[in-house]
Amino acid sequence: MLFLLHSECCNSHSIRSNNLCAKILPHGDLIKLNFGGFVPLSTVDWRGRSACAVFFRGCPVRCTYCQNSAILAGKDERDCEEIVELISGSLLAISGVVFSGGEPTAQKEALLSLARSVKTMGLAVGVHTNGVYPGTLEALINERLIDHVALDIKARWARYNNLLKGDYVKDVQKSLSLCKGAHESGLLPEFEVVITLFRGYDDEVSIIAQEAGSVDIVLQQGVAEDVRPLSEAEMKKIADGLARSVRIRTREGGEIVYEGDRSRRAARKRQR
Ligand code: SF4
Repeated sequence: MLFLLHSECCNSHSIRSNNLCAKILPHGDLIKLNFGGFVPLSTVDWRGRSACAVFFRGCPVRCTYCQNSAILAGKDERDCEEIVELISGSLLAISGVVFSGGEPTAQKEALLSLARSVKTMGLAVGVHTNGVYPGTLEALINERLIDHVALDIKARWARYNNLLKGDYVKDVQKSLSLCKGAHESGLLPEFEVVITLFRGYDDEVSIIAQEAGSVDIVLQQGVAEDVRPLSEAEMKKIADGLARSVRIRTREGGEIVYEGDRSRRAARKRQR
């Protein structure tokens, strides 16, 4: 995944700095972020936008293929205000901030605080998430603090808990349903489901796509030790089975929009 940040102006429990506010917890401590990293300018983390990316350290899940394993554990606590300053340094070049990780929604208070600050700066907020904290997504949506969610769905539900070594299915299902509902009602402008594809699991794609419904789907090339990654051509073939437009993301080719096999799409339309 990727990186994150925050800010908004505030209520009575706040400190002003450079016209931004850092919220204070009820016991008086500044909100801290367990920080994983910062990318001042990215054109690949949010399609169609220049954004900076703030990475949250820590994730309860342990995907064997995680590309950000260096920030899954450990501590590097920073005041949210420090992160806001980092974001401010990118202001001239960006229109949004992406929060990634690790798992950004695991640090609810820091994420909400940063999202408020970002909104106050006139920027859009994007979150990359594994969906295991639906309560954080709900709070962001209810406060109108979020413009874009990329939700990873890692397998069909029957295989989920075994793959992730934890009881996560219900929470991810709740996040999916929450984001779909918010997207349909206009509260969440952009929502996409990201499916990481590994050789030998092609048959799961159509099952997950069915769960996603009509929202945007990104097929992401899975990269893991001892498994040969699928090529872009192989991923296109898998996408053809969906008979719909998807985005395909590979290390070699970056991200492309794939409209799919036209004859299959036409056949699907005729079936409707
Ligand atoms: S959910 Fe994302 S950040 Fe967490 S272990 Fe899996 S790939 Fe890594």
